[in-house]
Amino acid sequence: MAHSKLEPRGRKVKILATTGPSTADPDMLRRLFKAGADAFRVNMSHGEHAVHAKTIANIRALEQEFGRPIAILADLQGPKLRVGEFKDGRATVPHGARFTFDRSSEPGDATRVELPHPEIFDVVEEGQRLLVNDGKMRFRVVSASKDEIACKAEVGGVISNRKGVNVPDAEIPIPALTEKDKRDLAFAMEQGADWIGLSFVQRPDDLADARKLMGGKGALCAKIEKPSAVRRLPEIIEMSDGIMVARGDLGVELNPEEVPPLQKKIVNATRLMGKPVIVATQMLESMIESPAPTRAEVSDVANAVYDGADAVMLSAETAAGDWPEEAVIMMASIARQVEADEDYTARVRMLETPPDATTADALAHACMTIGDTVKLSAITVFTFSGSSARRVARERPAVPVMALTPSMEVARRVALLWGAHPVATKDIGSFEEMVAKGKRMALRHGFGGSGSRLAVMAGVPFGQSGATNLVHVVTVQGDELERHESEN
Ligand code: PGA
Ligand code: MN
Repeated sequence: MAHSKLEPRGRKVKILATTGPSTADPDMLRRLFKAGADAFRVNMSHGEHAVHAKTIANIRALEQEFGRPIAILADLQGPKLRVGEFKDGRATVPHGARFTFDRSSEPGDATRVELPHPEIFDVVEEGQRLLVNDGKMRFRVVSASKDEIACKAEVGGVISNRKGVNVPDAEIPIPALTEKDKRDLAFAMEQGADWIGLSFVQRPDDLADARKLMGGKGALCAKIEKPSAVRRLPEIIEMSDGIMVARGDLGVELNPEEVPPLQKKIVNATRLMGKPVIVATQMLESMIESPAPTRAEVSDVANAVYDGADAVMLSAETAAGDWPEEAVIMMASIARQVEADEDYTARVRMLETPPDATTADALAHACMTIGDTVKLSAITVFTFSGSSARRVARERPAVPVMALTPSMEVARRVALLWGAHPVATKDIGSFEEMVAKGKRMALRHGFGGSGSRLAVMAGVPFGQSGATNLVHVVTVQGDELERHESEN
């Protein structure tokens, strides 16, 4: 099938755009994709399954149209805690006033409201904080029993029906998967989502629970937005396929000023393990309403790119904003500008990622140094599970990584990986085929013309996973494409 033309992105960092009302029109989705969205987040906190199914079908249609695998991340809401309801829909709690969260389903008022999560009452202790409405209201626990949490409103305000509650100081014995999440997860798997985002992960077991329900399909991204997840970060990264720095809730559960150093720590820890890391939330927040971002937002995106994050995310900017396409264009052009900086590669490599003692890692490292030594147009890696592509990307090579895989699922997953251009293509059976296909795909996908050089990484014997053991440097001839144009 002939695909619509789309140049290689010409950037390493990936753009993950959240879908929503603003992308309901398939033409807007196409515009976001053409403007640079490499992956889409379907946010299960909002919207109905029927609408999400339509969005997913629209994304898959784009994939067909352009012949480029696109990652879909289905983001589960997780155990978002909420207060009950008020007599008048809302109540005003003055600064310094007493306010009680209890287990009575009576409508609330300015002195009390139901907190319909019994688990909290078992663990909350005097002196801890309850934060309401994205941390805008702050309550300090004065005394806590099985039925009542009496608080002082350190920062009061208007509290209304079903407002969100964060309990940052306690580890709450609720699993990261609610009944709604289980239904949403089953839906997402049925729809062929490539990544599952797990919200409010507190402990490694949360990931094991989700993994069981995924039945060996899809990849799992842990959202780091709880202090307890930060405390157990290495184990959580170990149990995940990728990580999201979920700065929105993280900045509520902690203080906002604690987020920047943590962002850097989480990005580095995840990069070290060779897994993709997404920096998320409020990146171009003002573009929800305005066609131009603030300078601070531009700096924020730029710094995530300099930190070597795999992907930067747009939330409401693309899901519900007035300027979704402009937001993607802006993000892409910030990324291009940073990556064109002569200091960019050195900055990204300030994090040392010494190769593991495996053949695949040694060769991935070698590909990076080959790309620094001779002029390569791409590193072409044949990858079954995506693991070799991750090893190469982990080295943050100066040149693009073409990831050739026989699995469409792997290709889609790889779309979120730093510097990687995924291509789903038939497997190879011989050395000659490997070389021919490497060159053909480079020409076809816009990675260099006649005379350009590639480093091709693969495994002999061909056709099996985990066999990566060779790197071959080849030069592309101009007539290579015509000779093999009919082959896949
Ligand atoms: P959310 O996650 O948008 O699902 O809340 C991201 C965050 O908290 O930053
Ligand atoms: Mn969140």
